[in-house]
Amino acid sequence: MNMVSIIEKKKLGGVLSQEEIAYFVSGAADGSIPDYQLAALLMAIRLNGMNREETAQLTLAMTYSGDVCDLSSIPGIPVDKHSTGGVGDTTTLVLAPLVAACGVPVAKMSGRGLGHTGGTLDKLESIQGLSVSLSEEKFLDQVREIGLAVIGQTKNLAPADKTLYALRDVTSTVDSLPLISSSIVSKKLASGAQGIVLDVKTGSGAMMPALEDSIELAQTMVRIGCDAGRRMVALVTDMGEPLGSHVGNALEVKEAIDVLAGRVQGPLLSVALELGARMLMLGGAADTVEEAKAKLMDALQSGRGLEKLRQMIKAQGGDASCCDDVSRLPQAKVILPVSAPKAGWIHHMDTVGLGNTAQAMGAGRRTKEDIIDPSVGFVLHKRIGDPIAQGEKLATVHARDLSSAEAAIAAIQQQVAISDEQVSPCKLIHAFITDEKIERL
Ligand code: URA
Ligand code: CA
Repeated sequence: MNMVSIIEKKKLGGVLSQEEIAYFVSGAADGSIPDYQLAALLMAIRLNGMNREETAQLTLAMTYSGDVCDLSSIPGIPVDKHSTGGVGDTTTLVLAPLVAACGVPVAKMSGRGLGHTGGTLDKLESIQGLSVSLSEEKFLDQVREIGLAVIGQTKNLAPADKTLYALRDVTSTVDSLPLISSSIVSKKLASGAQGIVLDVKTGSGAMMPALEDSIELAQTMVRIGCDAGRRMVALVTDMGEPLGSHVGNALEVKEAIDVLAGRVQGPLLSVALELGARMLMLGGAADTVEEAKAKLMDALQSGRGLEKLRQMIKAQGGDASCCDDVSRLPQAKVILPVSAPKAGWIHHMDTVGLGNTAQAMGAGRRTKEDIIDPSVGFVLHKRIGDPIAQGEKLATVHARDLSSAEAAIAAIQQQVAISDEQVSPCKLIHAFITDEKIERL
């Protein structure tokens, strides 16, 4: 096998064989193929694509490039959920405890913030003492005991993806359907869950903003997962504006607790129920979406969901008192209102920009070495379609100092557009995708 001939073949639009795919994936994982050849191949794939079979083979080769987590000792059907990444998107912290409280084990490996998007691990770490780096043994023990664990990916999970993703990030080859699908699905297959619900975002804050592209990405991933023998479905959900009202790590934990405590409803809860319902169905705990949602709502209203979150926080070494008193979470020094510069209706949000504003305040990293400030971020008081008066409170910033607060206020006033004409609210759920059909909602 020869790397130059593999690059040459894809450059001319050819179809790579299973052996050729296995060759470059193992070379990416063990470092035996130089970065410049991998980068050239990634660009050829980005430009000429891969067919369904090549994409599936690439995914499986990446899955088995490292350790595959064995969840067979967990009774029942362990389920997981994965989002392609959003802003103010705390569905995991709402739905994982609710699903677990309904008796379906949730064994979840989450990620950190990437670019303008937030990450569940960073949010969880805003809870005093909580650890997200558990050994595989502890992870399994915890899921067997309380039915729920959310941790970071174990070290040797899909190592080929680590190499390829880092190269894609710096060679303008992230936005490729086969490369995104194989990257996401390989990690989900390697983390072991039998039932997997994908939350593919669409709209201004999504990796693939156009609805048709988001649907195609969802369908590609679901087919690979099902061909690999897992139960996998996808929802295409809206990221044309932040999902929850809170953006920032401790702020998003607070919002999730407020939802689980029954104090707050709205889009975050709605999307968490839709995704959670599909998890219950894949886990065999409900036959219909209505039945599943009723079970989840019962877990919420009875307080069993919040109790499950408490158990998880304690099991992972954290201070669970924040579940009863959200003021125990880290608090920002400077809290200031953002007022509307004019009257009208909220008609558009620059969701990527809002995510970047939170990141610049200290809620995310610009370099790998940056340290996150868990307390900072902002709360949006309006959604697209809402009327607003001039000078009315549009948002509240939680900042580390006055200059950071002032910069965030100016940015948010730019990133939330107000129009003279009335606009309708955004649809939350756009499509449901199985390996057999695409249901547009
Ligand atoms: N998230 C991933 O894990 N991989 C991608 O390629 C894109 C988003
Ligand atoms: Ca997104």
